Amino acid sequence: MSKTFLAIGESMVEMAPTGDGAFAMGFAGDTLNTAWYARKCLPSSWNVGYYTAVGRDQVSAQMLDFLKRSEIETDQIRLLEERTVGLYMIQLKDGERSFAYWRSQSAARCLAADPEHLTAALDNAGLIYFSGITLAILPAEDRETFLESLRAARMAGAKVAFDPNLRPRLWESADAMRTCVTEAAGVCDLVMPSFEDELAHFGDQTPKVSADRYLAAGAQMVVVKNGPEEVICASGEGQSSFQPNPVHNIVDTTAAGDSFNAAFLAEFLTTGNLAASVDAGAKLAGTVIQHRGALVDCMAPA
Ligand code: AMP
Repeated sequence: MSKTFLAIGESMVEMAPTGDGAFAMGFAGDTLNTAWYARKCLPSSWNVGYYTAVGRDQVSAQMLDFLKRSEIETDQIRLLEERTVGLYMIQLKDGERSFAYWRSQSAARCLAADPEHLTAALDNAGLIYFSGITLAILPAEDRETFLESLRAARMAGAKVAFDPNLRPRLWESADAMRTCVTEAAGVCDLVMPSFEDELAHFGDQTPKVSADRYLAAGAQMVVVKNGPEEVICASGEGQSSFQPNPVHNIVDTTAAGDSFNAAFLAEFLTTGNLAASVDAGAKLAGTVIQHRGALVDCMAPA
């Protein structure tokens, strides 16, 4: 197996209030968060890359610089003349955060528009990671191209991992989301949903129902996260569950699932040990939620 972890999706500019009326600029996005943590967790014998599309303007160049400084490879990223990267602003009112987005014309929406470029980007990846947000931002016709490229990469030996990350507001309809996410699960070695989303948008009554539904869709293995509750791992060989250690000082749950996925995958890719992988995922997520922000510079779990 090639030792390249390739995450695919949209990285955005983040404008976060600094408390004095000003905003600090950063970069974030669910798949970027997972790539960032995967780089921290995987041994240096692995490459971690990110695939997306950006513009040729200054802010896009700054995003590429950020990825490179984070030791995430950017060689495959599409550069588009006419577009730039998406942006979101965090707004604070009475201590509550809300988000405003400018992403409808973002370059990342074109990441699957050139099938040859996409195929070349996937070539040589050992593990390909994407999410429901990666699918949601694509034009409907490009979703098929994207899934077809994943099928081909898998035939060539890559493993594919997917977090459904259900966000109905990004889709044209909740039905389109459910249909596409179910089809995507059928292309995957590993599906990594969060039960809260599956309950809300598929109406699953238990994590086991979510696991069985994704196995029936064709996934080889399903790992269902459920906040402080047991993580369920299911495959054709059966089911097991693991209880994460309690976390008492929760500050911000942003990127809990993204960081869990990174540490789980890093351990699973290097040792294949399921219990150790859940443990690594839960340990890292447990640390991340004790800090503010998506990207917390903590050591990789032992
Ligand atoms: P989620 O996507 O919210 O289900 O969370 C992903 C992972 O983060 C979980 O599987 C846990 O390992 C960890 N996590 C999230 N919330 C908590 C919590 N309240 N207490 C302990 N661990 C948590």
